[in-house]
Amino acid sequence: MFWASYGLPPAMLESFLPLVEDVPEITEPAEFSIPDLGAKLGKIGEETGLLLRQVVALPMVIERQVLGERPGAKLARVRDGATSGKELLGVIFVLRSHSLHFSIDERQILASFADYAAIAVNNARLYQMSATERRRLDALLEASADGIMVLAPDLTVERINRAIRLLTGWTQDEIRGQPYHKIIDWVRLESEQTLFQAVHTGWPVVDTEGELHFWRGRPLYVEGDLRRRNGSMVSVGITYAPLLGRGGRLINIIAIIRDISHFRQADALKDTFISVISHELKTPVSIIKGYAETLRRPEARRNGVLMDEMLAAITEESDRLARLVDDLLDVSRLQAGGLPFQDVEEVALEDLARRVVERYAPHAPRHKLVTAFPEDYPLIDGDPRRLEQVLDNLVSNAIKYSPRGGEVRIVGSATPAEVRVSVQDSGIGVPYAEQERIFERFYRVEGPETRAVPGTGLGLYLARAIVRAHGGRIWVESIPGSGATFHISLPRQTGMVVWRETGDTEV
Ligand code: ADP
Repeated sequence: MFWASYGLPPAMLESFLPLVEDVPEITEPAEFSIPDLGAKLGKIGEETGLLLRQVVALPMVIERQVLGERPGAKLARVRDGATSGKELLGVIFVLRSHSLHFSIDERQILASFADYAAIAVNNARLYQMSATERRRLDALLEASADGIMVLAPDLTVERINRAIRLLTGWTQDEIRGQPYHKIIDWVRLESEQTLFQAVHTGWPVVDTEGELHFWRGRPLYVEGDLRRRNGSMVSVGITYAPLLGRGGRLINIIAIIRDISHFRQADALKDTFISVISHELKTPVSIIKGYAETLRRPEARRNGVLMDEMLAAITEESDRLARLVDDLLDVSRLQAGGLPFQDVEEVALEDLARRVVERYAPHAPRHKLVTAFPEDYPLIDGDPRRLEQVLDNLVSNAIKYSPRGGEVRIVGSATPAEVRVSVQDSGIGVPYAEQERIFERFYRVEGPETRAVPGTGLGLYLARAIVRAHGGRIWVESIPGSGATFHISLPRQTGMVVWRETGDTEV
């Protein structure tokens, strides 16, 4: 309860409280009365020692209208639950120290004063409510993770929220008052029409029922790729909804913009997955089938050398299939939370490198595979099977992506903190712009030279996951056209747990 007084000693105000203790909640101004007003006045007089002879209580009543409700609509239900159009905002008490009754004129003047006061208080209250409402709306708008844009009926921008500013790179000041397509600059459209086209073909359709105006149909949804301020692209879905005023007049169009790039990427990834896998499965399967069919013919079996060659090819292709399945399983394990490490032990990377070279050398007659490790190359703690998988992938890539042959060098080096293995080739190299991306899932460089080489784009993705799990880094240095060097660097203390012979654990 708030109260104010005029002409009364402030120290005594507490004593006047009984006046407002049981004020009726709501009433018609003409019937307004406060129970036992005279008696209360007497008591206050006794308590304060003031000479109080006359009192008149004037209700401050307003005709209440609920915010946002149409005029003439059902009257508001107010505090006590009764349906009524009146609300009591407060009471003005006028006190007199002489015994002259308030005349009719005086009462009328005071009553209209109370009416004006009620209007003023109500306006102040409404103003405060709308200011609070505005602040609340501002906070909601700014905090929203989706982009929100408010457009004027002529499709110029009134405001954009933080999410749109971040998404598009435009600032509020640059874009305010500009035509909306400055910010919604479609490069590619997936929907049938843009907002502009929709508005020019009659959207939104406004229906009128009595005094009620509503728009028919659904919000307008437009999806596609937008050009950002810096020229880059982003995939978005925009939902437009009209805000109608009295008489069905269009006040604003509200646009909600959602960045759907990751859905698009997921879709693209799914497509890549299907095409890569089907291609990579089909090739070995058709080779195996072709050789197996030939081997069923008796004349093929008579040629021992040919038979050996075919069986070797079948074995090689089966291995390729098995590797593909292993890689896919690893990828799905990675997605599910991590690659399993089997035996963490002391690993001599040099030995792993030599084994990989021995495995590949017979199949790479045009390449010269060389290992170069210093004598005191340190051991590290890790999973030898997984680390061999990394080296295997790097060496296999070095061979695959240097179709004209040449030297493939596996070089070891070490500092007090880390060990490094680098795999160098003199092949096609990696374009600068793609030197980061080749470590992404299913990513392959697009081009005639890579297209000719079988692959899934999973090897480096898995290699990076394995190296990171050992606390290390993997990266490429390459001058496109003159070869690539892939480096892995592992901390000498990988932080992995090693079981020693004594059974103690070391971290
Ligand atoms: P895959 O070789 O199965 O395609 P990777 O993940 O091993 O998959 O490699 C991803 C891509 O990186 C390859 O498709 C290729 O474009 C590029 N790449 C990898 N290694 C090399 C290399 N040594 N030289 C040139 N490009 C390479």
